[in-house]
Amino acid sequence: MTTLNVLAPLQGWCAPLEEAPDPVFADRLLGPGVAIDPVEGVLYAPCEGEIISVAATKHAIAIRAENGAELLLHVGIDTVALAGEGFEVLVSSGRRVHAGEPLLRFDLDAVARRAKSLLTPIVLTNGEQFSITRANTDRLLRVGEELMQLTRVASSERVSKATADEARETFRMPLEHGLHARPAAVIAAFAKTVSADIKLAAHGRSANARSAVGLMSLGVRHADELTVIVSGAQAQRIASELKERIFQMPRPAEVDPAEARSSGASVAPSNALPTSAQKARSAKATDGGERLRGVIASRGLAVGRAATLQAPEIQVEEMGRGVAHESAELERARAEVRERLEHLARHSQSTAREVIAAHLEFLDDWEVVAAARRAISKGKSAAFAWRAAIRESADALRALGDARMVERIDDLLDLETQVLSALKGEAPVTLRELPEGSVLIAEDLKPSQFVALDTSKLAGLCMAAGGPTSHVAILAAAMGVPALVALGSRVLGIEDGTPLILDAEQGWLTMAPDQAAWSAAEQAVSARQQRKQIERAAALTDCRSADGVRVEVFANLGSLTEAQVAVAHGAEGCGLLRTEFLFLDRDSPPGEDEQWRQYQAIAEALPNRPLVIRTLDVGGDKPIPYLPLPPEENPALGLRGVRTSLWRPDLLKAQLRAIVRVQPIGQCRVLLPMITDPAELRAVRRILEEVRRELDVQEDIELGVMVETPACALMAERIARDVSFLSIGTNDLTQYTLAMDRGHSELAHRMDGLHPSVLRLIAMTVRGAQEHSRLVAVCGGLASDPQAVPVLLGLGVRELSVVPTSVPQLKSLIRTLSIDRCRALASEALQLDSAEGVRALVKDFSLTLSRVAS
Ligand code: PEP
Ligand code: MG
Repeated sequence: MTTLNVLAPLQGWCAPLEEAPDPVFADRLLGPGVAIDPVEGVLYAPCEGEIISVAATKHAIAIRAENGAELLLHVGIDTVALAGEGFEVLVSSGRRVHAGEPLLRFDLDAVARRAKSLLTPIVLTNGEQFSITRANTDRLLRVGEELMQLTRVASSERVSKATADEARETFRMPLEHGLHARPAAVIAAFAKTVSADIKLAAHGRSANARSAVGLMSLGVRHADELTVIVSGAQAQRIASELKERIFQMPRPAEVDPAEARSSGASVAPSNALPTSAQKARSAKATDGGERLRGVIASRGLAVGRAATLQAPEIQVEEMGRGVAHESAELERARAEVRERLEHLARHSQSTAREVIAAHLEFLDDWEVVAAARRAISKGKSAAFAWRAAIRESADALRALGDARMVERIDDLLDLETQVLSALKGEAPVTLRELPEGSVLIAEDLKPSQFVALDTSKLAGLCMAAGGPTSHVAILAAAMGVPALVALGSRVLGIEDGTPLILDAEQGWLTMAPDQAAWSAAEQAVSARQQRKQIERAAALTDCRSADGVRVEVFANLGSLTEAQVAVAHGAEGCGLLRTEFLFLDRDSPPGEDEQWRQYQAIAEALPNRPLVIRTLDVGGDKPIPYLPLPPEENPALGLRGVRTSLWRPDLLKAQLRAIVRVQPIGQCRVLLPMITDPAELRAVRRILEEVRRELDVQEDIELGVMVETPACALMAERIARDVSFLSIGTNDLTQYTLAMDRGHSELAHRMDGLHPSVLRLIAMTVRGAQEHSRLVAVCGGLASDPQAVPVLLGLGVRELSVVPTSVPQLKSLIRTLSIDRCRALASEALQLDSAEGVRALVKDFSLTLSRVAS
């Protein structure tokens, strides 16, 4: 028998051996194994075999299995000191036993009180002959369920095995934002799939790779030295694989305009986010009420009445009612929270789903759960233990002083409340009924609390603390709830029912305004709502400027669902299908047929409308795991966009075949990202022609390029000769023109596509395209920015491809514009020397426009 399934000899949580609070076990001095935190005082035989020893102090038994594997079952840590008290041995040395036969009884609570820990190591003591090929750690096991699988090591391997037992890989952290929540969660998920122990070490500290929280607490930043240490079977292979996975992790993708808006980072960067100067301060308003200054987290205007939500701290008893009871309680509560979160995830939109996924990861975090169980085994109550474990992890993250990590503290504390509420058998405090038209006031609302709210009753949201890019801010914006954060503690003093005006366009909260101000704000809110409805109804027809010039408004899409939303909002087609979304989050590239099915479905969701499909735009800041690109010093300037496609022509050809097969032929157009010269274009066209021949397609397939590099804009005239259309990707064009990384938070406020240098490149592109009567669209974030639209139209752009839900607003804006006036505006903008100057100019222009209109 070369493999042996070892069964759980105890009921309880199964943890990696290194969790045992004793270096003799944790450092595997006795051999590899696992540890069980028992919830019942009976130890059973884990396999058929012979009892080879029983400790005189009755706390440990060793058994030799039929195949020769020897296992030590050691109840608790430092239990030798109990001198047999509380233990009753049921077998003697030399006895043959069956799997599942009781070997030992012990008084769980008495032992728990007196021993260092109840954690029971199950150790393979002849590890040179066997290796653990599977271990069911990090889960609750019942007696008799599979605990681990042992495999005999071939004799030829034995010598080398001892040295191959541990492997290390040292490298510099390639990820721009270091070891933050997402990569930590991916590493933790990977570590849970292998039986070897994995540690990550940096800055003289190490963390178990199964704990995302522990990994984050290492505080690893970009370019810091990091060592992966793997002990156990196939250590070298696992170490190399993990290193490779870290290198292949997606770098933070650019923020889609929809996300940018929803994260509070408005698509109008120069004036979007209040700066640090906007620390909460109060002022006497001209409208009678008192005002508090806040930071805009979700734009909009709201009037409503205060509804405070100051969740009282949940009181917990320190001491528990026995280890078994408290362990079971903790598992029950976590299971309940897990079930609720999974249910919520199924019924939430994608932004909320991401938040919930983070909570689920933390709920099962190895380190947090282990710390809680350690406290329970010392007699603490489940609630006390859980709170202590969460706070310990939160403190470790807080100590890093890294804003990105600090935001995760919210998630941890949120989870604390959820599990404590479940332990108390109460609904989370936020599930209370909100009165209609509430402006909710909270210290720092937690994401799950927000997700659980009835947003139809919610007029707005005010938080004393919080940040504009927190998860709650993202959720509020995604659901269209105006929100201010960082209002300061005075906001918490507002009494329930107080009338409030929440101006999340200017960053003010007015308390108890006078009647005139209240009525004016109410009117403004209802005018906005009416305007939205009218815009939505009018969006279903074609769009012309006030002086009759046709402007097409398309939508940028990443999925079938978005296509349906786009049509409902009046999009005249899709100007940019970001196909990389089909390629991310999977282990292998989608085949031709799978791609074809997706493109066909999206085409059918856009009846009689063009569908511009961009070929795969990965590499650089959007790597994909199964397409390992050579390591690059500067990925934004490396293999990305069409360069990647030409580097892997097999993938490009499959994609082009899938696009060309879509019916009706001609609905789909092909758009190439990151073009820098006509040679790239010619190379793709050759493959496209080959595809047409193979598929016997006679019709022409329109081919266009994205203008995303200054090179492409400067050569637009030359390139326009060879294509049917050009589409300006202002996100990348701005990044490459200003030489500012689009993901760089410090530079975010300066990354403005209205910078005159970018506008000059747009003007040059339009001129070049016009020489060959080619249409120029803009599909970058600038097209969704109402301030930029008059300038773009003035420069000659006649098609915009925008965030689907922005279509109605932009169409109605275009209908008010005269192209002649826009031309004058644009030529003035080209002469300015800053993006701020251009924005100020556009503001004046809009004011004049509104005066003329009224
Ligand atoms: C752009 O760069 O403006 C663009 C639309 O492409 P992406 O944002 O997908 O890189
Ligand atoms: Mg781009």
